Amino acid sequence: MAVIGIDLGTTNSLVCVFADGQTRLIPNSFGEMLTPSVVSVAKDGSIDVGAVAKERLVTHPESAAASFKRFMGTNKVFELSGRKFTPQELSSFVLRQLKEDAERFLGETVTEAVISVPAYFNDDQRYATKEAGELAGLRVERLINEPSAAALAASRLGGKEEGSFLVFDLGGGTLDVSVVDYFDNVIEIIAVSGDNHLGGDDFDEKIARCFCEQHQISYDELSSGDKASLLQCAEKCKRELSVSKEAACTFEMGGEKKITLDNAKLAELGQDLFDRAARVMARVLSDSGRSMEEMDEIILVGGSSKMPVVGFFLLTAFGKQPHMAASPDEIVAMGAGIYAGIKERKEELRDLVLTDICPFTLGIDVINNEDQQNPVMSPIIERNSILPSSRRRFYTNIVSYQAKMLIKIYQGEGYYCRENICLGEIEINIARKKKGENRIEVCFTYDINGILLVEVADLDKGTKEQAVLASGNSRLKGEDLKRRVEELKSYKLAPPGGIRTKLALARGERLFIQMTGERRRAVGTVMGNLHMTMGTGNDRMISKSLKEAEAVFDLLEGKKHRE
Ligand code: AMP
Repeated sequence: MAVIGIDLGTTNSLVCVFADGQTRLIPNSFGEMLTPSVVSVAKDGSIDVGAVAKERLVTHPESAAASFKRFMGTNKVFELSGRKFTPQELSSFVLRQLKEDAERFLGETVTEAVISVPAYFNDDQRYATKEAGELAGLRVERLINEPSAAALAASRLGGKEEGSFLVFDLGGGTLDVSVVDYFDNVIEIIAVSGDNHLGGDDFDEKIARCFCEQHQISYDELSSGDKASLLQCAEKCKRELSVSKEAACTFEMGGEKKITLDNAKLAELGQDLFDRAARVMARVLSDSGRSMEEMDEIILVGGSSKMPVVGFFLLTAFGKQPHMAASPDEIVAMGAGIYAGIKERKEELRDLVLTDICPFTLGIDVINNEDQQNPVMSPIIERNSILPSSRRRFYTNIVSYQAKMLIKIYQGEGYYCRENICLGEIEINIARKKKGENRIEVCFTYDINGILLVEVADLDKGTKEQAVLASGNSRLKGEDLKRRVEELKSYKLAPPGGIRTKLALARGERLFIQMTGERRRAVGTVMGNLHMTMGTGNDRMISKSLKEAEAVFDLLEGKKHRE
């Protein structure tokens, strides 16, 4: 049974398999490799994932959700058509869709996947990703860090054969930068750093805010539908700037309004975003102990790396011309696909070894004598330790005859615990002794999936007391998980048949909302025709008016029409 590799992206998701000695991306029902990570739920409970749901984001914002990956591992609840979902449940619908696409493509059942996650995902976010897999009916034994997946694919699929690489991966919502060595079939991740709130979406927002400022509109007071529409226009403008000198962001709001941008203006709008990217670069180089001169190549990965302003930033700030990976949107999925092949023990990959690292420091809180309210971090596993990693440190009691000890576990680089992320806490009964006499052992084991096991033992009690990290967030377990899996199964994914017509109708609805005057009337006419021919049930006529509709919509949106 095939194992699939999945890039569960903030904006788009992809699925890949290693077959016949090569990575093969799997197309969705539209024949496209990228499936928008957008979910919509109809009133009857049927689910659409991808392009149709993306159109609904504008026309029916109360029934569709996007960018939920940003909230993985939190308690945020999304309400769609009156039903409540967690981010991992929405992600599970995306995974289910990709699983179905893969099964159709491969002609066999798929039960296992390797899923990529941002390096900076913490324990809760990783756990939530695994849970999303389980909810979708997929066993997820292995998570792979996105930069490691990108590095794995980039180093195998071209560029220089061997050497030291800096992989700059700017996606929709996150930036990951890693330093990677590839020698003698061993891909070694040396250091990673990143910012999980920096990506293409931020550039869209910069353009949208600039639009609002120039037209004296308050961006923050826009309705969610208007905001989604404006952001889509901004994104289109941003993409246009990747191929043209100038691009306009045009939006209907009390008449047609527009702003025109060039790349110099985009660079100016994104200045603070580039400052943040520069800090990430400086840190990864310093952590790896390498200089930029020692890097053989900067490889650009992620959809947002296609922006010319990104290449320009790297060249001016770091003096090196970066190289675009062969398929920057697809490379993480390909890496996950290669890893799926390694997991399946494919002959062609037998000699390939990937060593990964822990991207952040893990530790516990200890008393700060200067300020008792403000505990400080005692690191146990340092960032960039090679995985799997198991480290122990010893602690003692700070109050005489205390019966219990509460240990809080943190992730992050800050000196004070309050600057880091609290992953959970463990309470342990200890032998009653004078201050400083207890010997408490804390052992952290960080596995190759980046999931942490914490064990605490009082060595003087004779018996080792062990405790496993209890997360601050609710995790579904046992019966609860089974019940939710069954509940989610009752939500049916839209069947692939007629999906093109469904997309055309959803797109027409969006354009009708977004346009005015002549153009709006044209949308109305085309939609009327499409509905009328659908009423006849005549496939040939439906196909003809569908093509007409797609051609008109492409024309109105300035897109190249594809047959
Ligand atoms: P990813 O998460 O790697 O799929 O990246 C998605 C992000 O890449 C989104 O913010 C897109 O707007 C952006 N993107 C994709 N293609 C382009 C392009 N040609 N020019 C600029 N941004 C792009």
